[in-house]
Amino acid sequence: MSNGNVIRGARVGSAPPRHPERHQPVPCRSVSYWCRNGHRTDIRLVAEVQAPPTWDCPRCGLPAGPDAHDPPGRVRAEPHKSHLAYVKERRTEAEGEAILAEALTALRRQRGAR
Ligand SMILES: [Zn+2]
Repeated sequence: MSNGNVIRGARVGSAPPRHPERHQPVPCRSVSYWCRNGHRTDIRLVAEVQAPPTWDCPRCGLPAGPDAHDPPGRVRAEPHKSHLAYVKERRTEAEGEAILAEALTALRRQRGAR
């Protein structure tokens, strides 16, 4: 009559089967941004999401860019830039040589014609 074994068979809190396939990590990548004050900010992005061109620095609020040596806002901070500096930004040394050679040729042709 006394059958205490009936209770033993019931598992308390038996969990439903797990679904490990739902817990696969989303592929992520880390992107670093630097602000003008040298603060580095690492953000995690889902792999297929394109990184934004700038990210506001959480420490000083300045815009931060992915290039540590050329953070955004730096150009504006320079008080004055010479015309030559702008030209050097746009053209490589080789291009400059070619343009100079072209100009000299034209100049010599002009002088020769006189
Ligand atoms: Zn900062």
